[in-house]
Amino acid sequence: ATAPALQRRHASKQRFVVDLSQCLFDFVIQLLPTVEEMAVKEDVRKLLERLIRTIEPESRLLSFGSTANGFSLRNSDMDLCCLIDSDERLAASDLVTMLGDLLERETKFHVKPLPHARIPIVKLSLDPSPGLPQGIACDIGFENRLALENTRLLMCYAMIDPTRVRTMVLFLKVWSKRRKINSPYKGTLSSYGYVLLVIYFLVHVKNPPVLPNLQQMPPLRPISKEDTHVAGFNTWFFDDIELLRQRWHSENNETVAELLIDFFRYYSRDFLYNTGVASIRAGLLKKDSKGWQNDLSGGRYNDARERNRLCIEDPFETDYNVSRCVTKDGLYTIRGEFMRASRILSTRPERAIIALAELCE
Ligand code: ATP
Ligand code: MG
Repeated sequence: ATAPALQRRHASKQRFVVDLSQCLFDFVIQLLPTVEEMAVKEDVRKLLERLIRTIEPESRLLSFGSTANGFSLRNSDMDLCCLIDSDERLAASDLVTMLGDLLERETKFHVKPLPHARIPIVKLSLDPSPGLPQGIACDIGFENRLALENTRLLMCYAMIDPTRVRTMVLFLKVWSKRRKINSPYKGTLSSYGYVLLVIYFLVHVKNPPVLPNLQQMPPLRPISKEDTHVAGFNTWFFDDIELLRQRWHSENNETVAELLIDFFRYYSRDFLYNTGVASIRAGLLKKDSKGWQNDLSGGRYNDARERNRLCIEDPFETDYNVSRCVTKDGLYTIRGEFMRASRILSTRPERAIIALAELCE
């Protein structure tokens, strides 16, 4: 192509990414929860906490997941975790049964206690009402301290670069729901898994990185093992965000649209699905080194193989593959969606809004 033709192409690309970035902000903003919704959720949390204290006086009910980490969309579920600050506490399964009975008697919630699940929880829901047009859905678990810590880690990442990180994550959550690739029960990936893929990309793939690695930064003062370990796992990370904002400036000035386009390209083409493990703590790891091989010879290890199609290391529980529910078909579908998104964005239609609508069709 001639120089002027190249210049025209470059200018049209620049227009597209500026336009797409603006569309992404506008799109995401209208999907954020309203102030009223957040207030209702906080009221529900307080009410439930008061009731739980009639069974366990020393307990606290804390919110985790998207309601607590800044990645919440309108009408998202509420994840709650009950912590009991006493040495003599009941077993989680008994608490679930007792709490289930109590809530059934004392509240209008539909209650479903699951005392024998791998992680015992009480599931609650409220029907839609004029003040709460979508109702409310909520899970209460017990003593899940690691979930509280990983929620805090994601929140800190969101706070370092709120505009780019939150816009990308929220967009991907909507996109993955609309494209039906956000259900671990059906062999695809949880929201938590997508968030980890975004952070991995921004910390370890982008060069220069958009985010620092909070788990590898030197601590400001010496820390003892007791302070940093939860359930046997090291949960330390640099969490002084005020200080970080003063000291850490990313050299990466790409727009949110450029990052998103590159995100889709990376996960459709470049990520080493067969051998690689995405670890936000340690970068790209090998399945071999974690004992997470997906042995293609079949046979006895069929089960393990299904579990390690896609490997994303939990930031703290490092022997846990967050995407262990992703099946062969699920991964095929997810990668197909990354490719589709990459293709739509690379054609750069005249107006970015059209690309966005097509993406989330
Ligand atoms: P949504 O708004 O879609 O509910 P979310 O941000 O709440 O998204 P979830 O996937 O519901 O994300 O996860 C909520 C929390 O539960 C996470 O922050 C994490 O602590 C924990 N969690 C969820 N899935 C997993 C998983 N596969 N492994 C470990 N922890 C998980
Ligand atoms: Mg949730």
